[in-house]
Amino acid sequence: MSKDISVPIWKQVLRQNFIDISKLADFLLLNPEQRMDLLHRPRFVLNLPFRIAEKVPKGDINDPILKQFLPTNAEMSIDAGFLRDPVGDTNCLKSDKLLHKYFGRVLIVTTGACAMHCRYCFRQNFDYIVEKGFKEELKLIAEDRSINEVILSGGDPLSLDDRTLGDLLKQIELISHVKKVRFHTRFPIGIPERIDESFLSLLANSRLQFWFVIHVNHPREFDEEIFAALKAVQRLGIPVLSQSVLLRGVNDSFGVLKELFETMIDRGIIPYYLNQLDRVQGASHFEVPEEEGKKLMADLAAVLPGYAIPRYIREIPGMPGKTPIDLFRNLNP
Ligand code: SF4
Repeated sequence: MSKDISVPIWKQVLRQNFIDISKLADFLLLNPEQRMDLLHRPRFVLNLPFRIAEKVPKGDINDPILKQFLPTNAEMSIDAGFLRDPVGDTNCLKSDKLLHKYFGRVLIVTTGACAMHCRYCFRQNFDYIVEKGFKEELKLIAEDRSINEVILSGGDPLSLDDRTLGDLLKQIELISHVKKVRFHTRFPIGIPERIDESFLSLLANSRLQFWFVIHVNHPREFDEEIFAALKAVQRLGIPVLSQSVLLRGVNDSFGVLKELFETMIDRGIIPYYLNQLDRVQGASHFEVPEEEGKKLMADLAAVLPGYAIPRYIREIPGMPGKTPIDLFRNLNP
């Protein structure tokens, strides 16, 4: 690794990401037959942190962690009902980077960059604007007194450097009707080094109440360094919640979901949402039928305490919030 001390450690770690599929295949010791299934020039490029690749057993192309990030031929399938913008983001844009879908809260698409590229990402086709700054977004938020919460999303907001993030937070602080800022991030799962002293100091010196929502799908994505990073956030009095996506071949079993939710509550992370897959083009192979998801969640609700059970939801464009999936409606015994 580079010894450039002027570059934060997390950026140096980010540079180690796998972006070349042949190098990843070599690292994972995939055999020639397995390599036939890889997409060498996917539109949504390979991007995988070294830490995550290290958690994949050698030679196992079906590993549930790897499946989330490995571009394969299955993505080329064209399926009815799978769209470029499955959640209707485009219709809710108030500016290039501001989404206003639900009452009281808005979402800033802060960047198109991520620590990793998840193959099922519903925003993989989003028309990210590279122009710097959030002037127009902050103006619109300041003008609308009904907005009390700003969600920082992307991409991944932790891809921004601390100066940009700090400036943005300071400007949000100046808008008196905004009380809360929520981070939607998967960064700590791939690069927990991002939660460094400099970042923590941004959170510690603010009047805003922060909420931290991590995206994690499988219990093996965690390790002790990740827990330590999240603990540092929790020590600031910031609740850490989780979002997961129900994914075929990744977490579509009672055992995996039980371990995922239990692992989190043992570390004080609150399971918040289990999302039914957003039907984005190229991700049909990840879909688990809703009836199957309902059965899984009903079985989990029978053995786990209520606070370990996330809300099973799906996003329906045009609805005033996420739509809860009723676990017990039409459930066969
Ligand atoms: S980290 Fe989030 S925004 Fe980035 S590719 Fe994955 S799901 Fe999409």
